[in-house]
Amino acid sequence: MAASMGNNSDNLRGVKHIILVLSGKGGVGKSTVTTQISLSLVSLGYKVGILDVDLCGPSIPKMLNVDGKDIHQCPQGWLPVYADNNQRLSIMSIGFLLHNKDDAVVWRGPKKNAMIKQFLCDVHWDELDYLVIDTPPGTSDEHISIVENIRQYNPDGAVLVTTPQGVSVNDVRREVTFCKKTKIPVIGIVENMSGFVCPTCQECTNIFSKGGGEALAKQMEVPYLGSIPLDPLLTKSMEDGATDVRPQAVDVIVQKITSYCNSS
Ligand code: ADP
Repeated sequence: MAASMGNNSDNLRGVKHIILVLSGKGGVGKSTVTTQISLSLVSLGYKVGILDVDLCGPSIPKMLNVDGKDIHQCPQGWLPVYADNNQRLSIMSIGFLLHNKDDAVVWRGPKKNAMIKQFLCDVHWDELDYLVIDTPPGTSDEHISIVENIRQYNPDGAVLVTTPQGVSVNDVRREVTFCKKTKIPVIGIVENMSGFVCPTCQECTNIFSKGGGEALAKQMEVPYLGSIPLDPLLTKSMEDGATDVRPQAVDVIVQKITSYCNSS
């Protein structure tokens, strides 16, 4: 574990837009959506950072094939790791700092909150168009810590990820309430694993009920950003740390996110 470096509170000054990615529970594809949104932003020419504060399961390094990289320090703080040759996508993950991946899970609240604070203050991002923050699942003290530490930088808002089923949708309802209470704007809801894309014929079948996310968005009066199908090619690409599969739906979602951010 890196020693404390104190608060370099200027490290987020050069970041134009901050987006939080939230989900009601684990396994709904929050990290996948974080990664896909970020890759799409990079393809549009933006300079993007991903901050992976998912203490329960920091999976971004594996998804972007930078797992096990060493973190270096400069006078301003930790230096993020580049995930692409053009140095347009930089990553900082709690996973880089854990010798044992299970460590963070057993941390008690104050240690988690101190780590989150250090993570938000002490990473030297330099200039970024977008910082996308992958948060832990649910709404907890950790989320409050995250919000408190970024509030002064006027985060653009949160993207909420759900799967189509009712239980997950109910979890997101709590996320919307959390955003309202903490005054974080909801950029919109993404319904992930919405239908299954057949690897042979590419036909999309709705194996679960569909439209829960859209219905919830309407009910809660927040924007609906779109749905991403369950695609085995995407699962494999994420597992292999490859970045070559991006469902078309992601680019449509990102168009909505950028137009939201540019108008807010
Ligand atoms: P979370 O961050 O919510 O815990 P992950 O993003 O780690 O969830 O996703 C859980 C698993 O589901 C991963 O193996 C990931 O590759 C897979 N997955 C997520 N979304 C999709 C999708 N749309 N199509 C195929 N696989 C997906």
